[in-house]
Amino acid sequence: MKIFVTGGAGYIGSHVVKLLGQYGHNVLVYDNLSTGHEWAVLSGTFVRGDLSDRRLLTDTLNDYRPDAVMHFAASIQVEESTREPLMYYRNNVVNSINLLDAITDLGIGYFIYSSTAATYGVPGTSPVDENAPLKPINPYGMTKVMVEKVLQDTAAARGLKYIALRYFNVAGADPDCEIGQAYSRATHLITRALRTAQGAQDRLSVFGTDYPTRDGTCVRDYIHVADLSAAHLLALMYLRQTGESDIMNCGYGHGFSVLDVVNVAKTVTGVDFPVEFAGRRPGDPPELVADSTKLKRLTGWSPLHDDLPFIVETAWKWEQRLSRKAGASDR
Ligand code: UDP
Repeated sequence: MKIFVTGGAGYIGSHVVKLLGQYGHNVLVYDNLSTGHEWAVLSGTFVRGDLSDRRLLTDTLNDYRPDAVMHFAASIQVEESTREPLMYYRNNVVNSINLLDAITDLGIGYFIYSSTAATYGVPGTSPVDENAPLKPINPYGMTKVMVEKVLQDTAAARGLKYIALRYFNVAGADPDCEIGQAYSRATHLITRALRTAQGAQDRLSVFGTDYPTRDGTCVRDYIHVADLSAAHLLALMYLRQTGESDIMNCGYGHGFSVLDVVNVAKTVTGVDFPVEFAGRRPGDPPELVADSTKLKRLTGWSPLHDDLPFIVETAWKWEQRLSRKAGASDR
């Protein structure tokens, strides 16, 4: 298939692009490089462009004529979204509408969307399934709820077929160590812990120790980026075979606290890096754990890396490689 991938130079998108290439798909990556890197695009053609540039977007789609679109490009940091909501609504909602406008005009039928567990807010159950109410507690989560709604209405009106994948906490790196999280200002826990172990920052802050969880720190369902990438290919195959739009959680179904992750990071790196206990970070729910029964049942998804030490090991190998790369000089 010909697949147009927005955000394909970023962390998750680049892993999916690599996998699409391995499966013989033809890929065009459209990315503004705000957080991604052209060297991370290991398959297909790269076009540097912004989704707000409707002329370039339409021209690129017109020339390429894809069969399907995977839409990763978005702003994704919860805390930043509480400070810069307009930027989040513009980048995530307005730009997604630009993209949907362009592709429905061209009659492109299949769309895989990067959604998030942040759509649930503070779920009443754990693990949480797709039928839980959507009550986001931060602007980032609200942008994703809004685009899910736009997709539902566009599917009804224009015949678009879509799968929205609600990611839980994506982590780890390509087991071949060719790509990984390369954004210098990434705020995610595993990346921050490993960069602290490398000495790139003095200490790791643990945000909040008074949550109603086992040890008082937030609990998350960490999913390896390679398993998440496989979910994208399976979701696309499912969509082509059935034509059924749907929404599916992506996670392993069990959670680890921030302190669990810190301990694994110390063991994997062999560095007893300094940790400070800090206040809560705005927008963080106490616990997010996925019920991914639907993804498994409908697409046959069968994760290979449900193993936190393995996730952290792949990320650690990547961080060591990245710190040697010339491109990492801005860290
Ligand atoms: N976290 C932390 N210190 C950090 C980064 C993250 O304590 O330097 C916590 C954060 O408050 C949350 C959990 O780790 O409870 C996961 O955060 P992350 O940013 O990795 O993912 P999110 O759940 O926000 O998507």
